[in-house]
Amino acid sequence: MKGEDLAMLKTLPEYELLAAEAHGHLCAGQVLGLRMALYGIKLLGLGDPAGADRKRLVTFVEIDRCATDAIPIVTGCRLGKRALKFRDFGKVAATFCDLRELRAIRLVARESSKQRARVLYPEIENKNQQQMRAYRELPDEELFEAQWVRVSLGPEDLPGYRAPRVLCAECGEGISFKREVVREGRTLCRACAGERYYTRL
Ligand SMILES: [Zn+2]
Ligand SMILES: [Zn+2]
Repeated sequence: MKGEDLAMLKTLPEYELLAAEAHGHLCAGQVLGLRMALYGIKLLGLGDPAGADRKRLVTFVEIDRCATDAIPIVTGCRLGKRALKFRDFGKVAATFCDLRELRAIRLVARESSKQRARVLYPEIENKNQQQMRAYRELPDEELFEAQWVRVSLGPEDLPGYRAPRVLCAECGEGISFKREVVREGRTLCRACAGERYYTRL
């Protein structure tokens, strides 16, 4: 990565301020999420993810917890821009996909990091403070396991995709981005096809 690219990134304390504002408080999970996003873009060689490189990056997150809120602070990837994808696997993990170079890195927070924090800073009684300090200081490799992976992203998954909305033959609601399914010749939304998460009262 060239020096001028790196200059576009902020420092960890600067990101922490922005994360605290967006998330409502600063916690160990925020620091971990920031470190995870910074490591991800470093491995991909992206120097300006929220600016010049913003159309190159799609991020998958695997848990709806504190760390997830911190990731868009660094990457600029937002759910409403289709650049942030949520897969509810209950894991503190994220995959950073570079759409230009067609490669992706998946990072998983190591289970050992809480233990490392305890060993490093036994004198700090507050667990959140203890972990926050450790998560700021531990090297990337000790915080995260990194795996290069392949992610299949269709054109319909990408920001900017345009296609006509179709109507569900059962409920009549509109469906975008090819999320409809065809069952016995009928075009249905995923809810009517059996994935409904709610019951109508
Ligand atoms: Zn939090
Ligand atoms: Zn339907």
